[in-house]
Amino acid sequence: MKETINIFWFRRDLRLDDNHGFYEALKSKYPVMPIFIFDTDILDKLPKNDARVTFIFETLQNMRHILEEEHGSSIALYQGKPLDIFKKLVESHTINTVYTNHDYEPYAKTRDAQIASLLQTHKINFNTFKDQVIFEKDDILKSDATPYVVYTPYMKAWKARFKTISLQHYNVSACLSTLVKNTHLPNLTLSDIGFSRSNQPIKDYKVDASLIQNYETTRNFPAQDSTSKLGPHLRFGTVSIRKMIQKAVAEKNETFWQELIWREFFMHILWHFPQTATQSFKPKYDRIDWRNNETEFKRWCEGKTGYPLVDAGMRQLNQTGFMHNRVRMLVGSFLCKHLLIDWRWGEAYFAEKLHDYDMASNVGNWQWVAGCGVDAAPYFRIFNPTTQIEKFDKNLRYINQWVPDFQELTYPAPMVDHSFARERCLRVYKEALQ
Ligand code: FAD
Repeated sequence: MKETINIFWFRRDLRLDDNHGFYEALKSKYPVMPIFIFDTDILDKLPKNDARVTFIFETLQNMRHILEEEHGSSIALYQGKPLDIFKKLVESHTINTVYTNHDYEPYAKTRDAQIASLLQTHKINFNTFKDQVIFEKDDILKSDATPYVVYTPYMKAWKARFKTISLQHYNVSACLSTLVKNTHLPNLTLSDIGFSRSNQPIKDYKVDASLIQNYETTRNFPAQDSTSKLGPHLRFGTVSIRKMIQKAVAEKNETFWQELIWREFFMHILWHFPQTATQSFKPKYDRIDWRNNETEFKRWCEGKTGYPLVDAGMRQLNQTGFMHNRVRMLVGSFLCKHLLIDWRWGEAYFAEKLHDYDMASNVGNWQWVAGCGVDAAPYFRIFNPTTQIEKFDKNLRYINQWVPDFQELTYPAPMVDHSFARERCLRVYKEALQ
């Protein structure tokens, strides 16, 4: 008879410490086999040298190495559609329970419902846990039990609720002895999954006391490069949100703390309003007569608009997979308002390029810049791409870094006149919103 095991399924939680679902699995009464599935439904849509795939792959190899060297175990790696992989796993193993952490995106919800139903037919439990946020689903609701759709009251309710809980940490390392003892669990190489190593490494994050304390004064200046770079690490779970929140609280920096709450706010919105993944939260805005000029979109993507701060942002994104938040707001506004290109085009381009791409934050912020989302910038707020330079890159350090050609004759003239574009945008938006 085969040994009964439990499975822990890693997804957006690629770490061996303070991992809620993993901890619960390890505390259970059967040996735990950790697994990760390279999901072809997701991978098939990505460029073959995608930096995020390299990052996930290397993180998993490091985790495997630690488990092999120190615990005589490993992580089984599979590639395919999760439902197909689980169909095979339930045939090849005697499984009591599958453990995993919650994932809130619409695709993940459907996938998990299918897996839950498959496991149920095989009388296998599916136990899932909150891990990537402090508050999820219905944790923070208005007094009439409906979801908040404005950030500030959500943030206040979040903080009030936070004061009432004690943050738990999940001491995984104390429980690793319950892993299955087998260092030969299935492995894969990057080329097995059809990918090659990216030459755009995902940067380490930096969250020390000085960064958090100075955050308020430095965070708006792209040349200072003084933000945490936590994005991809929170996205893939290589850092615990509980630890980061605790740091922000310990350093008493409300602004940094509130940025982390923005992340949860947008997750809360996507959970309660999954249609916003593709539709404007305010439906009237889907009546906007977008121009959607493909040649202009290409110039925006390539950082050749003739507006140096916009171009600097796009070139930073193309070359590094990162763009400073202040510049994201400007390039987003420029695309939707100056060029009248549908926010979904910009959202999709960012989704392909950003190392920290996260559906909830990307969609939420794009709808914010386009004016069509929850608590969005009013549609008549149109960033001026020239005066933004005076405010945020006065001495042109950021522009010089990413657009060294901006004072040369070869640098293009602005592709659209600011005043003309502003008037056009106001007219087109007004027509849609009547
Ligand atoms: P820091 O300034 O150090 O902030 C720390 C963390 O707080 C971030 O890592 C992030 O988790 C959170 N945070 C900060 N600002 C925001 C915000 N406005 N919304 C949600 N969370 C926030 N962020 C993403 O994580 N993924 C995206 O796909 C994404 N797309 C965006 C698209 C547009 C058009 C805009 C304007 C912003 C987008 N953001 C996105 C938000 C923000 O720009 C990034 O979180 C931030 O620049 C990442 O850099 P950092 O980790 O150094 O952030």
